Amino acid sequence: MSLIPPHGGTLVDRILKGDAAAKASQEAKNLKNITLSPREAFDLEMIAIGAFSPLVGFLGEQDFARVCREMRLANGVVWPIPVILSPADEVTAKINVGERVALNDPKGRLLAVMSVTEKYRHDKDLEIPNVYKTTDDAHPGVKIVRGQGNFNLAGPIDVITPTHEPEFPEYRLPPAKTREAFAAKGWSTVAAFQTRNPIHRSHEYLTKVALEMTDGLLIHPLVGETKSDDIPAETRMACYQTLVDLYYNKDKTMLTVMPLAMRYAGPREAVLHTIIRKNYGVTHFIVGRDHAGVGNYYGTYDAQKIFDQFDLPKDLGVTILKFEHTAWCNKCEAVVSTKTCPHGPADKVAPSGTKVREMLKAGQRPPQEFSRPEVADILIKWAQLAE
Ligand SMILES: [Zn+2]
Repeated sequence: MSLIPPHGGTLVDRILKGDAAAKASQEAKNLKNITLSPREAFDLEMIAIGAFSPLVGFLGEQDFARVCREMRLANGVVWPIPVILSPADEVTAKINVGERVALNDPKGRLLAVMSVTEKYRHDKDLEIPNVYKTTDDAHPGVKIVRGQGNFNLAGPIDVITPTHEPEFPEYRLPPAKTREAFAAKGWSTVAAFQTRNPIHRSHEYLTKVALEMTDGLLIHPLVGETKSDDIPAETRMACYQTLVDLYYNKDKTMLTVMPLAMRYAGPREAVLHTIIRKNYGVTHFIVGRDHAGVGNYYGTYDAQKIFDQFDLPKDLGVTILKFEHTAWCNKCEAVVSTKTCPHGPADKVAPSGTKVREMLKAGQRPPQEFSRPEVADILIKWAQLAE
């Protein structure tokens, strides 16, 4: 039995152990320090634990340019979105190539030491239209890039503490640990489902269809930085755990979290999500409609079509499970898609997001064909407190 190899061949581990960590902490006291943005801090953790393998640090200029233009690192390995360190210009002005610098989290606590190998102009005019397919400042990903510095610092990182505030520590398994768990369970094929929303009946269906094809299922919600109007991670985790407890075969299902900061880059982000899951040991990745999108910047199925640009077995090695929009059909008495059901929209139970929020605020469960009652009750509690 063998697991899928990590992206680029080697699972990265940039976390210093024992004496090396103590030495680096000591060294950091005499170094200039950089306070990371929330996104940079999440990226540092993703690099540290190997979720961003083969990256060992923040991208240099050649990697940055080729990632923006061609979705590849300079060495040809597929990588869709720049992972960069882009502090304010007055901070980078004081840092020289060849120096070691301390990297602190947004609250000023030491995370890592970095060897600065490059300092280069942050070409936002190359990054924004290529990665986000829009230059609209109202796009949350574009807005973040515009607010970043005009220079990037690159170099490998040696991490002392990946994060000082691990949300959901019991669910926060790094790639090495999910891989161990899959091996222990005897799973060589694993389907993963990415989500930043509560799981309702239609998505429960997708995950179960996927599991019919694989040895195991990883429900892998994102708990890194999201938009302020997304449902809080704590509420979502309660929904996921309740659903797994009551409606999934626990021997075949794992629930763990991923500390990634969303970019909302739609298609390119779907590729990033796939690479990350491969590093966690996943072989089959579910990509539904509007994956990782926001507003109307991307076509409904753009995040599926982008994979056609790759030689999938060679470039990614993950099977992409592309799903149509699904909903409960009263005539079929099942969750269906346009692929599997001949009936029209009038037969579907598909209340709008706005309608669902109204019902929850009023203390009403949405129809059970849309949402499991136990999940609805958790959301009602949240919606009423959020008032
Ligand atoms: Zn039908």
